[in-house]
Amino acid sequence: MTPQEILRKHWGYTAFRDLQEDIINSVLAGRDTLGLMPTGGGKSITFQVPTLMCDGLALVVTPIISLMKDQVDALLARQIKATYLHSGLTRAEVKRAYDKCRYGNCKFLYISPERLAVQAFLDQLRHFPVSLVVVDEAHCISQWGYDFRPSFLRIASVRALFPDVPVLALTATATPVVVNDIMERLEFRQPNVLRKSFRRDNLTYVVRHTTDKLAELTRILASVPGTAIVYVRSRKRTKLISDDLNRLGIHADYYHAGLAVADKEDKQNKWKSDQCRVIVATNAFGMGIDKPDVRLVVHIDVPGSLEEYYQEAGRAGRDGQRAYAVMLVKATDRRTLNKHLADAFPEKEFIRRVYELTGNFLEVPLGSGYQKTYDFNFNLFCRTFKLPVLPAHNALHILTAAGYIDYVEELETQSRVMILARKDQLYDLPTTTPGADRVLQALLRLYTGLFADYVYVNEDVIALRSGIDQQAIYESLLELTRMHILSYVPRKRTPYVTFTTSREEPRHVLLPREVYECQRQRMEKRIEAVIDYAYRNAGCREARMLQYFGEHAEGECGHCDLCIDRRKRTQLNTDDLREAILYMAGNQPRSLDDFMRTLAFPKDEVCRTVDFLVDEGFLRHHDDDTYSR
Ligand code: ADP
Ligand code: MG
Repeated sequence: MTPQEILRKHWGYTAFRDLQEDIINSVLAGRDTLGLMPTGGGKSITFQVPTLMCDGLALVVTPIISLMKDQVDALLARQIKATYLHSGLTRAEVKRAYDKCRYGNCKFLYISPERLAVQAFLDQLRHFPVSLVVVDEAHCISQWGYDFRPSFLRIASVRALFPDVPVLALTATATPVVVNDIMERLEFRQPNVLRKSFRRDNLTYVVRHTTDKLAELTRILASVPGTAIVYVRSRKRTKLISDDLNRLGIHADYYHAGLAVADKEDKQNKWKSDQCRVIVATNAFGMGIDKPDVRLVVHIDVPGSLEEYYQEAGRAGRDGQRAYAVMLVKATDRRTLNKHLADAFPEKEFIRRVYELTGNFLEVPLGSGYQKTYDFNFNLFCRTFKLPVLPAHNALHILTAAGYIDYVEELETQSRVMILARKDQLYDLPTTTPGADRVLQALLRLYTGLFADYVYVNEDVIALRSGIDQQAIYESLLELTRMHILSYVPRKRTPYVTFTTSREEPRHVLLPREVYECQRQRMEKRIEAVIDYAYRNAGCREARMLQYFGEHAEGECGHCDLCIDRRKRTQLNTDDLREAILYMAGNQPRSLDDFMRTLAFPKDEVCRTVDFLVDEGFLRHHDDDTYSR
């Protein structure tokens, strides 16, 4: 089958988008490839189509667990075999996934990069029929990128297991340095970048300086109709601003990563289906959300990098219709950004202290803890030792980068159930929990496939259907698990810490330049770029953004705030100039030289305007080369 036929058969799409086909052909030719396309450009298809054309499976490394699940679900819904591994799975689940991969029952295996540190996984992996290695969000492999993840560096080692298999790296944002770094880190046999322009003709970039952001926001919302996303930098502010908007009669809701799964889904759905116009969110909103008719994205808080800004702003106008990306700026934002920098890189002494306190908190004796994983209640940790939250959080990340611990926050798995007993054993259960039988019946009514595999379940829904309260459901499921009727894996939301080296004395904790000074410098550079974008009013916003991403921007976009201002100004200029010429020529005949000497305008402009006024009959040109009215 050709790529087109695969696309039509599995997705029902009639044609590829720009660049998709080039990437697919490059991969099919066995070449290492870096595909650069904006978010929403359709990167997934570029590895999914070629994999379906070949024997074997694609190993897809991606940093975000929730996206992993979305993608696998989307593939399964298209009858394509796919599975994923992440640190929240039980041993039994992992084993099932291994078996599927090994015996050809899986075309796509999604993993987080951390998995590549697990020897047991690597031992399995070498037996899998891998035909393509995909690195999604590939900018994470670069220390120059805005979202560097040390664990991505492990990906290169997979290449040794499959020397003939090509790598496809995909990302939406990469500056020229990052592009080269990605190819180097992934040991590309030959450099090979396929990129789509970052230009978005239907997207208008605007920066507004204001002292009252809320007032400006409401003004903008009043003048741009349609769906909007408002980005802020703190969870607390999502609700505050959404409340403000609602008070002003604008239908808004809020969203951040700390909400319960069901809550988030509900909010997303309402916004997607236009029951809610504005969503006020942290950057947790948007990944994998694909709403074509967003008309407006407003950043109330200045973002930390243009990479993030471009991605978030780019969620507007996917349908190709006119859309606006507005950044609201006030004088003190500069200081705020610099404070972020200070928070991101706390003093080294503080970092060592956080290391020490982590060990105390988890009761890890000096010299031990190696490769041990502990649940880590970060909030309690901060409260216990009265630590400032942001710096403590960042200290843990720096300790992770320095190789002392592995601090994983994002662990928000859904609950799962698989029934272990045979169907006929499910009647007349001798349970001590009164609800157990009813919970089981509710499960069987609500979900299919429970006998074959783990199925995601939602305790809220079961509660609703069975009329039993959550706590009782939880206890019933645990009891049924103890009885080996089923296997229940409750959802888990606590972060964890793994000690990647045995606990050391804090004074022996080394924070290498590469992890501290260099990273700090890079963050500083990114912040400078944002400040430049926000505060320097010259040229064209879009052209400057494109330049940052290494694209040669020809001309000006013609619709950003700077282009529009300029047009207005030249319009004004031209009017002034015309008036001045006519005024001078009204008193006595003047030569072109007179005009040029007297008027403080560029000479060619004076010439052009005089010609124009003659052509339009406002000025008369005499034989002695003078002009009068
Ligand atoms: P990215 O990873 O680049 O952000 P996705 O791969 O998630 O983008 O794709 C974004 C959306 O575009 C998805 O809904 C996808 O199904 C759709 N899409 C991709 N390619 C095509 C195509 N050729 N025709 C129509 N829709 C497409
Ligand atoms: Mg993607």
